[in-house]
Amino acid sequence: MKIGCHISIAGGIDNSVVRAVELGCNTMQIFSKNASTWREKILKKGEVESFRESLKNSNINPVFIHTSYLVNLASPSDVLYFKSINAFLGEMKRADLLLPDPYLIIHPGAHTGAGEEYGIQRIIRALNIILEESADLGLKTMILLEDTAGSGTHLGYTFKQLKRMMEGAKDRKSIGICFDTCHAFAAGYDLSNKEGVEQTLEELDKGLGLERLRVVHLNDSKYPLGSRRDRHMHIGKGYIGLEGFKVLVNHKYLKDLPFILETPKHDEKDDLKNINLVKSLIQGTVLCVNNNFKY
Ligand code: MN
Ligand code: MN
Ligand code: ZN
Repeated sequence: MKIGCHISIAGGIDNSVVRAVELGCNTMQIFSKNASTWREKILKKGEVESFRESLKNSNINPVFIHTSYLVNLASPSDVLYFKSINAFLGEMKRADLLLPDPYLIIHPGAHTGAGEEYGIQRIIRALNIILEESADLGLKTMILLEDTAGSGTHLGYTFKQLKRMMEGAKDRKSIGICFDTCHAFAAGYDLSNKEGVEQTLEELDKGLGLERLRVVHLNDSKYPLGSRRDRHMHIGKGYIGLEGFKVLVNHKYLKDLPFILETPKHDEKDDLKNINLVKSLIQGTVLCVNNNFKY
């Protein structure tokens, strides 16, 4: 199985590989800059080379880059909209520099009051500007649209909305899907039991196509089904629960995809506990798991 988590790049991007290996990951997700500022990061040549070298010498593959949270491709403000498009292209360029097989994950956008239809059209237009520019630049980064919890005015909380965004894009082969279990559950897709998981994944396959699905964000949800609140919880400690995760990680549609955890990190052992717990849920593996989290 492919399992990893979101890893800090504190002290330099190349440090992330060491951290991931220590946790027993064979895939990971990183930010390629500080995710909560607009400031662009200029990657130093040495940093890029050292990162690529450590990656090559590890068994970590693939690596996913998550876009900064400020990017909003649905913003009704032209200033923020074009700033977001530019920042996103910067993210794509960094992904191309850093990774042999680059994936960039993004939350589609929030319409901030302008309406869902307006927001979806705005996202489609942004994707087309980005795809055209990235084709001109010869970038090979694949964009992965992530399903959201639908909190506030965030779009992409139904498979139908994600489908419309993908279908609006002129170059569909450069766009895939990241499926976040906490977000889907909070948006109303029941993943806490076998029937719910089956139904949700069939709907995902019919609506978006399984071949579009490239990665699963494996997170439990702190709030109940349909709460539209985006708060992640340790695996098995939220409303999805262990039963749901046991079905999810062993499901034929998901089991060969990379699982990335974005669970809380209150204690430095939290990631390791969550990773080991997920490994123990895979049929056929027996592991001794210390599952006592501090909240
Ligand atoms: Mn995300
Ligand atoms: Mn996520
Ligand atoms: Zn989230």
